[in-house]
Amino acid sequence: MKRLTIIVPCYNEEAVLPSSLSQLTALLQQLIDQQAVAPTSRLLFVDDGSRDQTWSLIASAQLNNQLVTGLQFSRNFGHQSALLAGLTVASQDADIMITIDADLQDDIQAIPKMIALSTQADVIYGVRDSRKTDTWFKRWSATMFYSLMHGLGVEMVPNAADFRLMSKRAVLALLDLPERNMFLRGMVPLVGFPTQKVFYDRKPRTAGETKYPLRKMIAFAVDGITSFSTVPLRLIMNLGIFVVFIGVVLMIYSLIRKFTGQVVAGWSSLMVSMWVLGGVQLIALSVLGEYVSKVFKEVKRRPRFIIQTDTYSQQKPNETSN
Ligand code: UDP
Ligand code: MG
Repeated sequence: MKRLTIIVPCYNEEAVLPSSLSQLTALLQQLIDQQAVAPTSRLLFVDDGSRDQTWSLIASAQLNNQLVTGLQFSRNFGHQSALLAGLTVASQDADIMITIDADLQDDIQAIPKMIALSTQADVIYGVRDSRKTDTWFKRWSATMFYSLMHGLGVEMVPNAADFRLMSKRAVLALLDLPERNMFLRGMVPLVGFPTQKVFYDRKPRTAGETKYPLRKMIAFAVDGITSFSTVPLRLIMNLGIFVVFIGVVLMIYSLIRKFTGQVVAGWSSLMVSMWVLGGVQLIALSVLGEYVSKVFKEVKRRPRFIIQTDTYSQQKPNETSN
């Protein structure tokens, strides 16, 4: 029987956590009773530096139920870091690991299906069957994002968020990728190994607010693009060549006008070209800056997360008695 660890990143999730805790513990207990997974399987809640009651909810749940364990970060490191920390700690002893958001927007009934498929594949993606509960804007932006990434040559599974099962060897391979700019949706396919998909309906959040407002969504998308593709740099070059070509044509045109004695009226064309070119240069610079900042972050090699409390590893000595 395989040992399963379910990893749940939580950031200020006091509103949904009580219900998520009871649903997930009930599900895991049921899986253990059905002998679908080993009795040493665990839930691992990763508190990503929450400022509300999240950690005390996790800590008190631990006292009542030995299936519950937790990691507490020293501060907020972000969703992707929380997932990575959970995988790092769990991969010490788990055979299979599932990551799922704390708000349970992803259907936990997909978990037994993933476990059943885990004999055939190392990575099992949870894929949203329909997005009818998302707003039209989220649907539209997601479609745009996935087709953009596809166009840039990044291999990604469309509509697969961070709800997936991974085998130990797939997780260990993933942890070997040393980057600080983490975009797990792009990194997991790089690992290879056989994959499968499980389809499910994504529900709306039952309580609390999204931790991904538009601002963070855009930052996440820009991060994803610039961590996985250098096509934007090449686009700048093409744009530059195009602008230079237009400039040469305009130069020849105005020289001809000058020598044929027709004075160029000038003001509008000067203003337009000045502002357009200025804009193009600023955009080009900012794209370059984005890549430079990625390199800057990588060379500093700062830790991707810092753990303050780890009750998952602490419980190890007693495990043999289970
Ligand atoms: N999350 C996190 N750290 C953060 C932001 C979010 O661990 O800095 C967690 C959050 O608690 C949730 C998951 O990431 O479990 C996804 O966040 P959310 O549900 O708000 O995103 P959405 O579903 O709206 O895209
Ligand atoms: Mg959510």
